[in-house]
Amino acid sequence: TFMANLPPTQELQQKDAAHHLHPFTDTQELNEKGARIITRAEGVYLYDSEGNRMLDGMAGLWCVNVGYGRKEIQEAAMRQMEQLPYYNTFFMTSHPPVVALSEKLASLAPPHINHVFYGNSGSESNDTVVRMVRHYWASMGKPDKKVIIARKNAYHGSTVAAASLGGMKGMHAQGGLPIPDITHIDQPYWYGEGGDMDPADFGLMRARALEEEIDRIGEDKVAAFIAEPIQGAGGVVIPPDSYWPEIQRICDERDILLIADEVICGFGRTGNWFGSDTYQIKPDLMTIAKGLSSGYLPIAGVLVSDRVAEGFIAHGGEFAHGYTYSGHPVACAAALTNLEIMEREHIVEGVRDRAAPYLAEKWAALGDHPLIGEARSKGLVAALELTPDKAARAPFAASKGTVGLICREHCFNNGLVMRHVGDTMIIAPPLVISNSEIDELVNKAAKCLDLTL
Ligand code: PLP
Repeated sequence: TFMANLPPTQELQQKDAAHHLHPFTDTQELNEKGARIITRAEGVYLYDSEGNRMLDGMAGLWCVNVGYGRKEIQEAAMRQMEQLPYYNTFFMTSHPPVVALSEKLASLAPPHINHVFYGNSGSESNDTVVRMVRHYWASMGKPDKKVIIARKNAYHGSTVAAASLGGMKGMHAQGGLPIPDITHIDQPYWYGEGGDMDPADFGLMRARALEEEIDRIGEDKVAAFIAEPIQGAGGVVIPPDSYWPEIQRICDERDILLIADEVICGFGRTGNWFGSDTYQIKPDLMTIAKGLSSGYLPIAGVLVSDRVAEGFIAHGGEFAHGYTYSGHPVACAAALTNLEIMEREHIVEGVRDRAAPYLAEKWAALGDHPLIGEARSKGLVAALELTPDKAARAPFAASKGTVGLICREHCFNNGLVMRHVGDTMIIAPPLVISNSEIDELVNKAAKCLDLTL
């Protein structure tokens, strides 16, 4: 019935282009082609206003981990809407859903993490963490420790501080970024930058760039290092196994806080609750969003270790920071129900024991395609490197980005949502994707590679 009442697609597209400024969208392309209008979704499938069905290989924006159409989350949100649609958590107030969610997150997080500060998006969480680490060091009597080292090509969000932490050149070129006291080191991108090096040696070298950067700046001036366990929007950079243990050693020895941006990796994506579990690191802070509510409502946060929390708590006073919607009761109820579903259906174990090994095998086979230089995956996040020359791992130099764009268009027109970052194709499907749906995804991807050839 909802579908029947929709205006014609063209009318929606025209109004959309006329009045809606889209994030990360070329306005000219939008005017010419019109946006695809998504009207409903179920499981791992999206449906558009023309009745086309698409397998959502990106789980929205890496977030719909439990899949679409979960009545239980909808009902929990509605019940909370009736009971208490809004109240804040400022000035000595709290409410039952935020208490329950905080307790749940403390139980899911690594043992040394027992506190959470809420926001509404990954961007806000990363903005929060910038102030939090500097405030922490100031409370500890070290106000000069304020530089945050991040990585080139990282994506940490679009607010001013988060986009400054991010290492996207295109973003820094607009709007006067980055803000001061943030620097960027190279990433452990072996396929693109490792040349003839052994991947393990390359991973060590890129980790040691952190130590060199700390020496360059001075240890007494560095507050923290931030990175995603697996860099997502930068092109699904899966680090060599040597990388993270070396980063952990450096942070420990040099007394630098380690911040894991778990916005993509958190909540099962890599086959454990957190990417930090997969790489066995012990971050002082973890930023979370996306999978926390599977995207059903906006909610995000910073998970804070005992060390950092006690630094705050022991010194008393207030952290002059917060959002009207920090710990929004309806979003908390949705997130809590989402996490209950994940536990009850053993979704994380399902990724680890079933879906990830199945995808890894099928995905690796795509590496034989003439257009593919590398097919890599970890958990349920994966990438394909498009190349005109497999042996040289060469990029499409002259047309950087356009071949990926062409491939994405073929996918879009053939019932598969796959994203491109330059000439790297990436997927991060809902974690509940079945083996036969994985077959469909991989077969469609193969067909679209043929079309792109
Ligand atoms: N951090 C990472 C690793 C992300 O991938 C994203 C979004 O894609 C963000 C932060 C920003 O999150 P949000 O879009 O919710 O602000």
